[in-house]
Amino acid sequence: MAGFRMHVTVSTALGIAYGAATVRPMGFGPETAVLATGLTAVGGMLPDLDSDSGRPVRELTSLAAVVAPIMLVPRLIHAGLSHEGVLAVLMALYLIVRYCLPQVIGRLSVHRGMYHSIPAMLIAGLIVYLEYGSPDRHLRIVLAVGVMLGFLSHLVLDEIYSVDINGIRIKLKSSAGSAVKLFSESWGANLACYAMLGVLLFLVWVDLEQNPPAGWLTGHPVATVENEHLKHVRIPRTP
Ligand SMILES: [Zn+2]
Repeated sequence: MAGFRMHVTVSTALGIAYGAATVRPMGFGPETAVLATGLTAVGGMLPDLDSDSGRPVRELTSLAAVVAPIMLVPRLIHAGLSHEGVLAVLMALYLIVRYCLPQVIGRLSVHRGMYHSIPAMLIAGLIVYLEYGSPDRHLRIVLAVGVMLGFLSHLVLDEIYSVDINGIRIKLKSSAGSAVKLFSESWGANLACYAMLGVLLFLVWVDLEQNPPAGWLTGHPVATVENEHLKHVRIPRTP
């Protein structure tokens, strides 16, 4: 199994490359690049939230306690909360994530159970997409992809490190094939994981219904701030 330090190093390097890609060729600003880099780096640590050993969980919950409330700021402002209201929500969230979440995770998880799986990766991406309530949908997608990229790098690293290269013979360790997976042995965990994925997909659908992307109803792309780049795309007129 790859160690915590290796996961952080790889996902941070990946995050820097991804952050650079958001500026060029994707055309976002440097702020987005920094956010995308940070989220990719954090994504690479997320699967080890299920680890029983103290350090990854401590580091992650401290980080999540700061990052998760900050990500919610655009939504809170959009909801019309006062300055003090926003601060109160942020403080309450910090306390919940920092002190209550580790207890819940400790009780529910088995190391390298469903936290190390493809559906868990999708859940992380969907949470970021839903939580970051920016009107710019492309930005939300970019950030969600960032966290999923980091997550995937963790799964792949765990997978590689469960393969022991011994001379020319590649011997599979007992933990091989247990990181990049769709199901675990525990049906309860599978059910909980897929139920959560289902709920999040439903929320994304509700979100899309409430703010349909430009061209969603007419079937034709419409030039808006959100898809400014389509302004130069010619749509053939039907006679
Ligand atoms: Zn792991």
